[in-house]
Amino acid sequence: MTTRLTAHFALEELSTTLHRGIDNTPPPDVVANLRRTAEQMERVRAILGDHPVTVSSGYRSPALNRAVGGAPRSAHLQGQAVDFNCYGFGSSLAVCRAIAASDLAFDQLIEEGNWVHVSFDPRLRGQILTKRPGGGYILGLRA
Ligand SMILES: [Zn+2]
Repeated sequence: MTTRLTAHFALEELSTTLHRGIDNTPPPDVVANLRRTAEQMERVRAILGDHPVTVSSGYRSPALNRAVGGAPRSAHLQGQAVDFNCYGFGSSLAVCRAIAASDLAFDQLIEEGNWVHVSFDPRLRGQILTKRPGGGYILGLRA
């Protein structure tokens, strides 16, 4: 059984873990955040021509975040960040460009190389970053 948050996003989809043995059950306050995040992801999906969005990571419990080497204060811990691809639309760079050109309010949009990270931390700084192949991040998107 799945719990639908919005038309195209389920709670299970936004709180999955491929790491066996790690509890990734979101607490109630995180579920509330995930509902708002799903609403924002509906907007992302619309920006991307309503192509299906494939989520690789949403909420991460502290244990899961440690296991995947996530940033200690990652927005994934609050259920306010999503890592995804939209294969029907194009590359992670093309997806980032489309979101950056839209009026969507986000906190961070990161072109991670093989996926896109978007977060809706209430600070909504509109920060756009690109992961460097050698490590670290630079401001902006590749030309
Ligand atoms: Zn992420």
